[in-house]
Amino acid sequence: MAFKITDECIACGSCESECPNGAISEGEEIYVIDADKCTECVGFFSTQQCFDVCPVEAPVRDDDNAETQDDLLAKFRKLHPGKQPKL
Ligand code: SF4
Ligand code: SF4
Repeated sequence: MAFKITDECIACGSCESECPNGAISEGEEIYVIDADKCTECVGFFSTQQCFDVCPVEAPVRDDDNAETQDDLLAKFRKLHPGKQPKL
């Protein structure tokens, strides 16, 4: 599942630079995640970097974007051709 950022977001911006896929950007009021780029950090890290860095636990799994581990790995490979997944 891709992650999404809830209304809890205080727009501190800390997560934007932590995403290995460049999936996070500043929205009109809160930060937003591009579901097409979010691999839940699969391929890079064992935990979700945006969640780890967020002071208010705003990033959560998006149940509307359910994906298997294989789906997420496939997304990683599409986003980073030729790169070996670390995890
Ligand atoms: S879970 Fe990982 S890949 Fe997805 S938005 Fe957060 S930092 Fe980026
Ligand atoms: S780290 Fe949390 S509060 Fe800060 S911009 Fe990201 S989601 Fe919002």
